[in-house]
Order: sequence, then structure tokens, then C-alpha cells
Amino acid sequence: MEQHEAAIIGAGPAGLAAGAMLKRRAIEAVIIEAADRVGSSWGSHYDRLHLHTVRWLSGLPGLAIPRAFGKWVARDDVQRYLRLYAEHHDLKLRLRTEVRRLERQPHGWLLTTTGGPLAAQSLVIATGFNREPFLPDWPGRGGFTSELIHSSRYRNPQPYIDRSVLVVGTGNSGAEIAADLAEGGARTVWLAVRTSPNILRRDVGGFPSQVLGVLMRPLPVGLVDRVTAVAQRVTVGDLSRYGLGRPARGMYRRLADDGVIPILDVGLIEAVKQRRVSIVAAVTGFDGAEVVLADGQRLRPDAVIAATGFRRGLEPLVGRFGLVRGNGLPSVHGPQTHPNAPDLYFIGYSNPLSGNLRELGVDSRRIALHIARRHRELPWLSVSRIGSAEDAGDQRDRDQHHDAGGRELERALRDPGAQAVAKDDGDR
Ligand SMILES: Cc1cc2nc3c(=O)[nH]c(=O)nc-3n(C[C@H](O)[C@H](O)[C@H](O)COP(=O)(O)OP(=O)(O)OC[C@H]3O[C@@H](n4cnc5c(N)ncnc54)[C@H](O)[C@@H]3O)c2cc1C
Repeated sequence: MEQHEAAIIGAGPAGLAAGAMLKRRAIEAVIIEAADRVGSSWGSHYDRLHLHTVRWLSGLPGLAIPRAFGKWVARDDVQRYLRLYAEHHDLKLRLRTEVRRLERQPHGWLLTTTGGPLAAQSLVIATGFNREPFLPDWPGRGGFTSELIHSSRYRNPQPYIDRSVLVVGTGNSGAEIAADLAEGGARTVWLAVRTSPNILRRDVGGFPSQVLGVLMRPLPVGLVDRVTAVAQRVTVGDLSRYGLGRPARGMYRRLADDGVIPILDVGLIEAVKQRRVSIVAAVTGFDGAEVVLADGQRLRPDAVIAATGFRRGLEPLVGRFGLVRGNGLPSVHGPQTHPNAPDLYFIGYSNPLSGNLRELGVDSRRIALHIARRHRELPWLSVSRIGSAEDAGDQRDRDQHHDAGGRELERALRDPGAQAVAKDDGDR
């Protein structure tokens, strides 16, 4: 049977970063991906999407996102960067292969995949925070006579020109889709709000709000909430006359309690102030062509777009090892492992104020270090290769590599022949 030192499930940014950092530590790793390309989740996001996090805090370790992609990187350029990242690190990919089942073995893990079984001493799960679109089971939903879609199926405002649309949910997707519809010619746009969101502008005077999140990450919840409340008041102002009251809980408290990050605004504030987006109460159910709201009001939209989030969908793979908590998140994360599942790691299942992509970089390094140490302890691995890689992996080296990678990519982008496609072991 095929054997690997490490296997990674998922070739999104998390899996790619983990693969690159393992490689740097001379751990051989295969990345198994159900889709036919790396970064596939970015291919299904809406057209107008640009990163809400700034380019220089969104690159993965070992290769900066090129300056040519601008300050706020567009959806297609994120995909392009991920392809170039996989090629730059010469990652071993197994595309069009889904992992269906995991079994613990005396020395590692057995993976049942659509391409056959495969064994790995260490396993990294990187299947994504946004794996399964979640649509609440609202009463009457099945009998709703107009269009109802999840936000993951929204592409652009074109189909909604001159129509009335209700967007449900005030995460970053809901906020941006509402603004996109208002700017793109929808006749009426309502935004249904259950809990008043915390909102920051994506940047103020050129200063990205994400930087605030990075700086404040280690600080106590109460302090961060006070600072961000002031930032919110000064930069966003009071939106209560438009129906968006002051949030009952601060930014960090909301994140700690519910895992909800603030809106980094790219248009909603202006659309609400200009009354091109109207705030309405939460949806409680459907009745024929009508949507029933928590305050008793009834709307009759032509379409409903539910920006109601995603689920991790980890149960089929790891539920039986007791690794999934009630909220669907894994009970260990990053370099931590669980006694029920040694040598199994999770990356990408947090939602920090400092930005998910940035966090993946941090966690991928920690996981790779942990795996390298662990392999060194274990009798069946060659110690010498890992030792030499660790010696080479100090911080200065990493930073130089990061910059060099960025310059190399800039050069590649100037060369029109450089449309890299990641290697696909599965095709060979
Ligand atoms: C609309 C939107 C905008 C975002 N904007 C930002 C932003 O601006 N800044 C930021 O930092 N973060 C952002 N994020 C969050 C996060 O950075 C991205 O979702 C990122 O793609 C997460 O990377 P990932 O590798 O963890 O997951 P994904 O990109 O979802 O990759 C997971 C991969 O695993 C594969 N997979 C799953 N199950 C299996 C299986 N059983 N077998 C084989 N393969 C499998 C999937 O096909 C997928 O390719 C955004 C998210 C969304 C949804």
C-alpha cells in the first residue's frame, strides 16, 4: 500500500501552507484534494470579492502575495496565487481524490480515499471552516414560492436587477452581498438582522483595520472591546436611526462567545446611510410567497439570499474519535493533538480577528515543527534528514525565503508564460 510520512486532507490555503512547511522540515507529505485544482473554494465565491484582509498580512509562509495584485487582492488573484504557491514549493498533490474514512493504525493513519487506500504516519486535516453551506430549517421554508438560495450560490447582482431581494445574515458575506445588490441595480434590498453586528471599515485613511486585530490579539477581551468600540464610534458612527442599533456585545466578546468576527465594511455602511439597503428584523419563517419577521412584519421579496454561514462538516471523518465539539469545531487545533488521535492535526478551524489566512501561516509552521519533532522521536523514521532541515529553518532564513519567493513570483507574473499549474500526481 502507498505510504507517506505525512498526508494532508485539503488543498486550500491551509493544506498548502501545511505542505510547504512540512517540506521545509524535510517531511515528505502528500496533499489530497477532492476538487480538480488547488484553492477550489475561491472559485465559487461571488465575483466582486476582494480579500478583506490586506495583501501583506494575507500571504502564506514562504511566498509573499505579489505587490502587483494590489492592496486588496481580488478573488481570481487569490486562486492564481495559490496555484503559484503550490508550484513554487513543488508540493505533491493528489487531486480529484476524496478522503472518505480514517482509521487509526499502530503507527499512524489509514486513509480510505476514492483513489484507493493510503497510509501516513502523520495526518493534517485542512478541509475548511466553510465546508458545508448552512441553511436554517425555518418553518414553512419548503413551501416558499419565490427564489431562496444560500449565499455560496450568489455570484453577482445581474439576475436581481429591478427585483426585490432579502439578504439574511450580517456576516461579511451578507453585508457585502447586500451592498453589491444595492449598487448593482436591485429595486429593493432588505437586510435581515438578528443580532446587531460589530462593524469596522476595512481601512481608515489607508490603515487596514486588520492591523488593529493583529496588534490586539494577545490583549484581554474587555480592553479590546473598549478600544474597538471607540474605533467603531469614530469611524462608523451611530447607525441606530437606520435600524442598526449599538451591538450588545463587544467585538472580542462576540468572537469568544459565538465565533463571530466583525464586518470589515466594503460598502454596507454607505448603502444603509443612503437607504439603499433597509434593515429589517430577523427571519422567523415563511408563509407561501411571504417571509415572516421577528417583529411580525411580512415581506414579499422576489428572492431571498441566506448568508447564514457554513458548517465544518468534520463528523464523517473524525466524529467517531470524539474530536468534534458541540459547535462542530475540532477539540484540538494547530500543534495540539488529542489522546484519542495521536499524530492527527487540524488547521484552519479558527476565525481570529487577525485574519484567517495570516493565522494559517502561523499554525502551519507550528504543526510542521511538532510533526518534525515527533518523527524524530519515533523509531521508524530517518532522524538525520529531519535534523538537518530543522537546523536550516531559523526565522531569518524563513523571512529571506519569503521575500525571495515574492520577488520570484513578481518576475514570473511579468512573464506571460508563467501561468503555473500545480503538479498533479494523480494524473501521472
Ligand atoms: C467569502 C469568503 C471570503 C473570505 N475572505 C477572507 C479574507 O479576506 N481574509 C482571510 O484571511 N480569510 C478570508 N476567508 C476565510 C478563509 O481564509 C478562506 O475560507 C480560506 O479559503 C480557508 O482555507 P482552508 O484551506 O482552511 O479551507 P478551503 O479553502 O475551504 O479548502 C479546503 C479544501 O479541502 C477540500 N476537502 C474537503 N474535504 C475533503 C475530503 N474529504 N477529501 C479531500 N479534499 C477535501 C476542499 O475541496 C477544499 O479545496 C474568507 C472566506 C470566505 C468564505
